[in-house]
Amino acid sequence: MDKALAQKVIDRLSSAKSPALFTHLRPDGDAFGSLMGLAHTLKDRGQNPTLHVEGGMIPMYRFLPGSDLIQDIPDQLPPRSDAFVVLDTSTRERVGKKTADWKQPVDLVIDHHISNPGFGILNLIVPEIPATAGVLFRLFEMAGWKISPATATCLYAGLSTDTGSFRYRGTDAQTLRIAASLVELGANPSEVAKHCYLSITPERYQLKKLTVETLSLKDNKKSGFLTILPEFYSKSGAKSEDTEGIIEEVTSIQGLEVASLFEFIQDGGLRVSLRSKGRVDVNAIASSFGGGGHRAAAGIRFPQDGEKNRDLVLAAISQAIAKLKD
Ligand code: 5GP
Ligand code: MN
Repeated sequence: MDKALAQKVIDRLSSAKSPALFTHLRPDGDAFGSLMGLAHTLKDRGQNPTLHVEGGMIPMYRFLPGSDLIQDIPDQLPPRSDAFVVLDTSTRERVGKKTADWKQPVDLVIDHHISNPGFGILNLIVPEIPATAGVLFRLFEMAGWKISPATATCLYAGLSTDTGSFRYRGTDAQTLRIAASLVELGANPSEVAKHCYLSITPERYQLKKLTVETLSLKDNKKSGFLTILPEFYSKSGAKSEDTEGIIEEVTSIQGLEVASLFEFIQDGGLRVSLRSKGRVDVNAIASSFGGGGHRAAAGIRFPQDGEKNRDLVLAAISQAIAKLKD
């Protein structure tokens, strides 16, 4: 982490009395964990942050301390806010539809996505740490700010979920050191795991079952894709956030290099998730279609032409796999 840059970020955060904190749409564990971890720390320092997420809190992460602090995105940037801060979000568009027309520039971006162009005035983007929660931990440590058990729990949840429970390629000695420090500071790994991995609702399980049945293997069984159709939601009673994690079922197949999930949206749009076991750079594939993410996990959104775009993405995956030497 660039120390001079990190110091500027610390100074900018310190100078804000009421920073407005945002993260990405379809928020995951790192989005909520980072947002709430930063909020607890700023509050402990006497600041008054507001927290905004498109759609508000989702049930799965309600166990995190301070989940009642989360609000939906307001129509305009809160008038009293003196810093517009965006966490764990690779593009300005991914903050959400409502914020797209706001004239105020983003003051501060803190993230770990390699595809992040740096859309703020000040940008701390650290791809070598596999979760924004980990970037915040290092930042607080540098600043000498006290990390409470509540902050530690939120950051640990972000780090655990974004590394797939410390299984993905980005997990290195530093990741585990950060995790160990967070446990020493009060995070409880089994409690976090219970809520994040062992609390699937029957509706979510039903959606997973319907989706897994659509599996289609391609490219000599080196790639596989799943499909979610709009009616799967009415059939299962699940919500859109319940898709998180389903793609891992495909990634886990032996010999497979790339997994993809295509979610057809009612309005004709398409949401794509891509995962790689490491040899194929799925961020490069996603970026070529205007999406982004990381080398091993990336995504794309197409506002229309779902089927045509699915075929284009599948062709790009086949091409990338054909280039592998085995
Ligand atoms: P997921 O497949 O879990 O939705 O996303 C995997 C990764 O890709 C995440 O790091 C996420 O931020 C990124 N990602 C997902 N969808 C998009 C997208 O439409 N645009 C960009 N730039 N990144 C995305
Ligand atoms: Mn993240």
